[in-house]
Amino acid sequence: MLIDYHVHALAHGEYEYSLAWIEEYLRRAQAQNLSQIGFSDHDWFEDRIEVELIKGVAARPEFDGLMVRVGIEVDYKPEREPEIRRILAQKPYDFAIGSVHHLGEWMFDHPDYKDGFLEREIEEIYQVYYSLVERAVKSNLFDIVGHLDLIKVWGVKPTTRQENYFLKPLLHVMRKAGTVVEINTGGLRKPVREMYPSEVLLRDLFAHNIPITFGSDAHHPEELGSGLYEALQTAWRVGYRKASGFARRQSISYPLSEIRRGIS
Ligand SMILES: [Zn+2]
Ligand SMILES: [Zn+2]
Repeated sequence: MLIDYHVHALAHGEYEYSLAWIEEYLRRAQAQNLSQIGFSDHDWFEDRIEVELIKGVAARPEFDGLMVRVGIEVDYKPEREPEIRRILAQKPYDFAIGSVHHLGEWMFDHPDYKDGFLEREIEEIYQVYYSLVERAVKSNLFDIVGHLDLIKVWGVKPTTRQENYFLKPLLHVMRKAGTVVEINTGGLRKPVREMYPSEVLLRDLFAHNIPITFGSDAHHPEELGSGLYEALQTAWRVGYRKASGFARRQSISYPLSEIRRGIS
């Protein structure tokens, strides 16, 4: 049985929470053999997140055996820290994902602003990106680091040596903070065609004892659970035997063997 802790029901604002819409996600979760689903809409829509509505649908007998969590994906910018603290205290979230989608004002992962990669040195882009991820981790605001190497989304990369140079300090910071890193399969559906993090990076995470969880970054019920089987196999190959889930901001460890058994 798989776990999916990165799910958008509102997508980019085009959908609304309703009993029927949430029901569709939960049905799909069952069909996809998920044992846990964690909603994590963007904090841009925090007013529209309805924790009670989701929990209400989840409590129906037909969804017995499916664990349903409600979290939030927060757009990290250093100057937003006080605001983020306020947002996280607002609702009884089970978990918070901290994600870097902006370098300053540049929303680098948005197709409309992709050309920004031509206007800057690639080493500088990566350096700035990872320094922001580091600040996000150090802020201690989040349970999970979202799509750790999202900066590769368009397939533009520095040399491995350079990337390692930026990543090394971050690995230590993450280990110290106890932050969980998600294996986000959304990258498989993007031009880079790789999970976040890459398998190479995942090996480094394992070597540093950094815990993982799983997320599809679904923006529609049809994307739910997508790529997670592959992600699980990769995690197992790398050496991981546990994954983290969350309830009311407390992490809970699940054996991967159990997660695997359900699908083999
Ligand atoms: Zn994101
Ligand atoms: Zn997301």
